[in-house]
Amino acid sequence: MMKHTLFKSKRIIITAGPTREAIDPVRFISNHSTGKMGYAIAEYLHSIGADVHVVSGPVSIDTTLPPSAITAIATADEMLAVTRQLAVDADIVIFAAAVGDYKSASIAKQKIKKNGEALYVKLIPNPDIAFELSKAKTANQLFVGFALETENGIENAVAKMFRKKFDCIVLNLQHAHGSGFGYDTNKIQIIDSDLTHSDFELKLKSSVAIDIVNHIKARMSENKQTVCHV
Ligand code: C5P
Repeated sequence: MMKHTLFKSKRIIITAGPTREAIDPVRFISNHSTGKMGYAIAEYLHSIGADVHVVSGPVSIDTTLPPSAITAIATADEMLAVTRQLAVDADIVIFAAAVGDYKSASIAKQKIKKNGEALYVKLIPNPDIAFELSKAKTANQLFVGFALETENGIENAVAKMFRKKFDCIVLNLQHAHGSGFGYDTNKIQIIDSDLTHSDFELKLKSSVAIDIVNHIKARMSENKQTVCHV
């Protein structure tokens, strides 16, 4: 495989998979993310010589990445702590994880018993990892975000890109048949901070990963200014 020399000495952090928030010792709140997209990007980058590290929620993926390139976490707080530490000397951070927006306000010490009544679980917001890291983003760092929207896709994705200082955002076209959680294929659109966008066909996630990496590469070689207001 041809090595992209541009990525050879680059340190790239990728968040991937779902997060998992306990409500008692045997139950948790999570989502349907499989982590396939994040891992496909990491595996392709690794194969072309980049120094990648995945901060991964619970997934069942048979990966070609060495175990030393993965830190397994469960909760959003854990993902934030690890990613924050790793991002300090990263050139690129790719936020592909489906981080849960909420966690239980408290975790019951014992298994919650059913009593025939409604059960109310108070949920409180999780930290937004990308937003937290954007506060320390430097001019040399490139951030790539993802958005999965069911309505007003472009508008919402653009708002997220600016709020979280992403240099580009990959919009997952969930309504497209065969795209999104659980599928092996994805249909994406990549929107750049200068609002140009590129549309792609429905493809295997391994091919989508190559499109995303090629887009980042083109962006880096064009030397577009990164989004940084610190
Ligand atoms: O706001 P929304 O969850 O749609 O934003 C999606 C983007 O932000 C993704 O890149 C996702 O990985 C990142 N994100 C995050 N921490 C959160 C929520 C989203 O890093 N708590």
